[in-house]
Amino acid sequence: MAAETRPLPLPPAVAPDWALFLDVDGTLLDFADTPGDVHVEPGLVDTLAVLHGRLDGALALVSGRRLMQLDALFAPLQLPAVGLHGLERRDDGHLDIHHRAPALDDVLAAALALTSKYPGALTEDKGTAIALHWRGAPAAEEPIHEFATSALIDLPGYHLQPGNRVIELRPDGAHKGAAVLSLLAKPPFHGRRPVFVGDDLTDEHGFTAVTCHGGFGVLVGRRQPSAARYALHDPMAVRAWLDDAIAITE
Ligand SMILES: [Mg+2]
Repeated sequence: MAAETRPLPLPPAVAPDWALFLDVDGTLLDFADTPGDVHVEPGLVDTLAVLHGRLDGALALVSGRRLMQLDALFAPLQLPAVGLHGLERRDDGHLDIHHRAPALDDVLAAALALTSKYPGALTEDKGTAIALHWRGAPAAEEPIHEFATSALIDLPGYHLQPGNRVIELRPDGAHKGAAVLSLLAKPPFHGRRPVFVGDDLTDEHGFTAVTCHGGFGVLVGRRQPSAARYALHDPMAVRAWLDDAIAITE
C-alpha cells in the first residue's frame, strides 16, 4: 500500500488548558550547519516566557540538547525542560541527570578522530550520549553510520537513534515519549491536554505519548509517516503560531 502523503491540516490555536511540549532544533529554531551556530530569533524568548505564564507553567522544552545548552540559548529564561531526549530533566526546580558510561570515553575519542577527517562533520559530546553530525559534510554519512554501528558492540545498554543528518549513541530507555509522560504525571502538566510539537524522528515518541493521553502531535515539516495529527510548515510557522497564541489570549 502506498504511504499516505496528503498534507496534515494546520493545528488549532493554543488553548489555555493545554500542556505544551516543544522540541527546539528544527521546531523553534531553524537548523544551522552545526548545533553551535543556531540563532534564536528576536522576540522568541519573550513569547515563550509569556506563554509559559498563560499556561500556568505547563510549557516545557523537550530536546536532544543538554539542559545547560538550552538555558544558554534561551537566557535568561529557564523553562521546565527535558534534555538529551530524557536523560536530563528539570521540572518544579528539581534536576535529574543520568551519569556517563565509562566505555563512552574510548568511543568518543574514536568518533572525534573519524569526524576530524571530514571538514564540516562534527562529534558532539553530550555527556551520557554521543552525536555524530554530517549536515556540513554529506560524504561523512556512510563512514559515520559504519562507525556508529560497530561502536555499539562496545556499549552494552546503548542503541542508535537516527535523526536529521545526525546519529546518536544513546542509553536505552531514554526517549522523548517517556520524558513527556514523566512530566505529565505531575503539576503543572497533570490533567491538561498534552500537545507535542516537533520535526524529527525522535519526536514521534512524543507524538505517540501525547496522543495516548488525549492530546495530539504537531509535525514541523512534511515527513511521513508520522503519528502527528497536524502540521506546521517550518520553524517560522511555529513561531508565528506561538505569537498568535499570545495575541489571542490577551
Ligand atoms: Mg528537532
